[in-house]
Amino acid sequence: MGVRRVIAHLDADAFYATCHELLDPSLRGRPVIVGGTGPRSIVTTASYPARRFGVGSAMPMSRALRLCPGAIVIRPDRDLYTRTSRQVWDMVGAALVDAGAVCEGEDGPIAHLEQAGIDEAYAELVLIEKPLAFLRGLIADVRVQTGIQLSAGISPSRLISKISSDLEKPAAFVVLSREQALERLAGRPLSIVPGIGPKAAHTLTELGFQTLADLARADPVMLLQAFGESRGGWLAQVADLSVDVPLQPVRQRKSISSEHTFEEDVDPDPGTDTGAPMPLREQVEKMAAEVAGGARKRSFRGRNVAIKIRTGEWRTYTRATTLPDYTDDPARITLEAVKLWEQHRPAEPIRLLGVRLGAFEHVERRERTGTDSPDAATSPQLQFVLDGGVARTRPSGRRTRR
Ligand SMILES: [Mg+2]
Repeated sequence: MGVRRVIAHLDADAFYATCHELLDPSLRGRPVIVGGTGPRSIVTTASYPARRFGVGSAMPMSRALRLCPGAIVIRPDRDLYTRTSRQVWDMVGAALVDAGAVCEGEDGPIAHLEQAGIDEAYAELVLIEKPLAFLRGLIADVRVQTGIQLSAGISPSRLISKISSDLEKPAAFVVLSREQALERLAGRPLSIVPGIGPKAAHTLTELGFQTLADLARADPVMLLQAFGESRGGWLAQVADLSVDVPLQPVRQRKSISSEHTFEEDVDPDPGTDTGAPMPLREQVEKMAAEVAGGARKRSFRGRNVAIKIRTGEWRTYTRATTLPDYTDDPARITLEAVKLWEQHRPAEPIRLLGVRLGAFEHVERRERTGTDSPDAATSPQLQFVLDGGVARTRPSGRRTRR
């Protein structure tokens, strides 16, 4: 480990069950099991009161209900989890940016955060002066604002942090150096190591290695012979907890837009009988529907609807409306986009038209400063504008992915 790192692994406690408790506070403190109710259903997760009865994730529901007959069983609700998850990680990401825990993204600095699952993420805090105080404050803020309790493991590597956050759940805050971790984890079974599954653990046990301390005594050459070069080498690094994989931060999506560049500049008022620019209005409607569809597909709801207009003279401007609440309703987004179009359509010919939905739920929206580059649009396409930069486009494809 050449580079100094301060990696926090943040993991929500009983995430799914907590999401349901937030919707229905009467569930709080009661044994809640999330999962299907069919004969073959398994437990997705259980609240801590249910866990005290021995109920655990991936257990057959029938067995869980025998262990805890009084449990309240709730069907999984993907949308709820996605919304809550986004709320939590957007908040963590924004706090990291504010505190200077950033790294260079393609379009500028981004939060040094890698989401590892719906309810867990790694953050690099090395640039923060007092990382532990920062993290305690952040975890408290997240709890107050979202109702989600994060457990944290903090160490020089993601492996140690990942193991640590699980040591004292719920509301864990475990800080370990590599040396401290070697000492504290020495007697633990190898199954606590992410990446050592039941099968590998079994093989290791047969070779005489049950704990991390056992593995630390292993001859690295023997590990290479038994497990092959890459796996054996990895196990040798696990043994002294020196496995170190850098974070891969992902940019936060700030808006979804659809743009159309016309092959020839279009006169917005072609002098028809009514004077109504129907083709362009229809274009706006079509793009609004695309944007709404894209938002829905990803469980985004926004409250800022905007249109973008570029004239034949390359004058580019956007006009936006902020709604009183968040929406992904195609009819509503279309209505607002068309209204903006009617109010702001220019008299001069138009080269490009766009519709955008932004200010997503719980995402702090920062004003974009970049202007769109002349070649930024091929037609028509859906774009994702990412934190701190202009839209990326792929000439060949309809969509850019994050
Ligand atoms: Mg969790």
